[in-house]
Amino acid sequence: MKLIIDNLSKTYDNGVKALQNVSLEIPTGMFGLLGPNGAGKSTLMRIISTLQEADTGSITLGDIDVLKQKNELRQVLGYLPQQFGLYPKISAEVLLNHFAMLKGISNKGERKDLVKALLHKTNLYDVRKQNLKGFSGGMKQRFGIAQALLNNPKLLIVDEPTAGLDPLERNRFYNVLSELGEHTVVILSTHIVDDVKELCTNMAIINQGQVCLKGNPLQILEGLKDKVYKKTIEKSELDLYKQNYQVISEKLFLGKPTIHILSEVNPGNGFSLINAELEDMYFSQIFSNNNFKSN
Ligand code: ADP
Repeated sequence: MKLIIDNLSKTYDNGVKALQNVSLEIPTGMFGLLGPNGAGKSTLMRIISTLQEADTGSITLGDIDVLKQKNELRQVLGYLPQQFGLYPKISAEVLLNHFAMLKGISNKGERKDLVKALLHKTNLYDVRKQNLKGFSGGMKQRFGIAQALLNNPKLLIVDEPTAGLDPLERNRFYNVLSELGEHTVVILSTHIVDDVKELCTNMAIINQGQVCLKGNPLQILEGLKDKVYKKTIEKSELDLYKQNYQVISEKLFLGKPTIHILSEVNPGNGFSLINAELEDMYFSQIFSNNNFKSN
């Protein structure tokens, strides 16, 4: 099973080109779609989920023509949107049972077993009797995953799921997601590099509606091997360094800026070579023109 997106484009009525000739092949497993806010990720997720029309292009999931066979796609789709409302005064167990009924699981015993299994899977079994009103952001997101899994989807789309979660909750959420990938195409759309680093076997970086890089994170990092250098400098020197080097990131360390630069040759001048991280690749794609595109 593969999701194949071919030459997909979408321009909004206000002229914003949200997607421009996007082509991606996404196999089963966890796929990270990484890009800054406004890159076009949600537009792409909504089109794949049949909630929005594309202007041109095609999408197939196995035999299903996603843009034409919307009902067929919906039967095998699980979708966790960026924002979703929940009835606050109902317990997680009751609401999940209710959603299962809406999804057509009419046998009471079967429904009970499924709800129980999904509450366990998303680590919510112990809090199943609590009203959703008292749930933390992370618990709500895990509940969102539980409801998205009710129809045992072949395609699961998760849009910006860890935004706003604290590190502990984010980790719990990663644990739930990492169990899912094997037989399902899971697309995780995010602007958080760590989400992709921790979970994804394949990824793409999207910026201004275009795919600027795609592949396996480890192979992608190979493209930066021996090309990223680091130096801690004075704040007052920052502009000068930006003029003279291809600075891809700057972070404060003990109050001083530490910069990462891209360079084909050893720049000397106190810079030291470092092992590139996925963040370096991301920032090099998003913030600078460079020659490290692959595929
Ligand atoms: P992301 O999910 O990566 O933040 P979006 O797909 O939400 O990106 O947005 C991509 C671009 O399309 C942005 O410039 C955004 O302002 C614009 N956009 C999104 N939705 C609409 C809409 N309904 N009408 C007009 N422009 C939109």
